[in-house]
Amino acid sequence: MGTNSRIHPERNDVPLLVDPMKITELRPFILHVPVTGSGIADSSHQVTDWGAVGALIDTDAGIRGCGYTGTHGHLPTDRLICDCIEHAYAPLLAGEDPRNVRALWSKLYHCPSIRWVGRAGITQMALAAIDVALWDIQAKAAGMPLWKLLGGGESKRLEAYNTDGGWLNWSLEQLVADAQTMVEEGFRGIKIKVGSPDPNDDLRRIAAVREAIGPGVKLMVDGNGRWDLPTARNLGRKFCDFDIVWFEEPMWFDDVRGHRALARAIETPIALGEQLYSLDAFASFIEAGAVQYVQPDVTRLGGITPWLQVADLALAYRLPVVAHVADMMQIHQHLAFAHPASHLMEYIPWMRECFEEPATVRGSYFHLPQSPGAGTTLRPDALERFGVDR
Ligand code: MG
Repeated sequence: MGTNSRIHPERNDVPLLVDPMKITELRPFILHVPVTGSGIADSSHQVTDWGAVGALIDTDAGIRGCGYTGTHGHLPTDRLICDCIEHAYAPLLAGEDPRNVRALWSKLYHCPSIRWVGRAGITQMALAAIDVALWDIQAKAAGMPLWKLLGGGESKRLEAYNTDGGWLNWSLEQLVADAQTMVEEGFRGIKIKVGSPDPNDDLRRIAAVREAIGPGVKLMVDGNGRWDLPTARNLGRKFCDFDIVWFEEPMWFDDVRGHRALARAIETPIALGEQLYSLDAFASFIEAGAVQYVQPDVTRLGGITPWLQVADLALAYRLPVVAHVADMMQIHQHLAFAHPASHLMEYIPWMRECFEEPATVRGSYFHLPQSPGAGTTLRPDALERFGVDR
């Protein structure tokens, strides 16, 4: 029996090998962090600040967990997520052992009154923040970075592709110059936005970038749900001329039938998942053959717990998992290092100044994080610098 073992308080013949731990306090927060330049745009959104709406969860063991979801820095809806964390979920966590993270996810997800109004949207993003904080505590209690707690190994290489560029509000000249810069910095993959009012403009932009970066660099395109099936099919058939690795979110986010039809009509693989809220939604797309690159995001999917389920589902269909990183890479780097279906992840560094150990790329590969936890520990001044009154 180890020196830390104790006797079960109710059955004095049963040794307790794991000391109990209880959640003592939960405090929501909102961060707004400026994005690149004076703001960015894709075919569906314009963003000046990235939002992190989350929770700090304290325990009687002195361990603090941090989790958050990702938003467009829209304060009215950020406050709704905060309210959901504080008033709907926090009372269900009082006194619970945070390491029972899968059981707690089920308790929160299946709370009848919350489920009645939720299962997607604000309730699911609030759940994501809590679930991530609980996994952060779990990993810190184990004294390990999350990737190691999940069974990953030191030798895995995780390639980065740069998505901090390619914006639709940039001129062709700025787009091409930035793409060249990213390649000169060592990236071997980049993504650019499509979905211009005139789709021929997109073809011109793709052709110019491909010519500028040469044939050896991965090039992806992202429509952010802009097009209908006829337009997506017409353009998608031309993408193979430019060796496009994948066509991301070509059409409306929930349209399984449309993406299945498109997948059968074009050679370029389809990537999606950043707007899906559930394991069931991923199952529908995967089973239909409507997606080839699976892009789950913990911040929308309800946390790490369902992310791992989606990644396992993708693996069962032998599909690659390429996480969408509305967490700005901090959490997903651990998951990608640990999961066998994941070898490539996007790089977008907007929130690096918020974290104790920001995700880092050397050459074109992610550095393996070393600190215990899920990568979410905030720098002491993060709330002061980027915090917004909730
Ligand atoms: Mg995208």
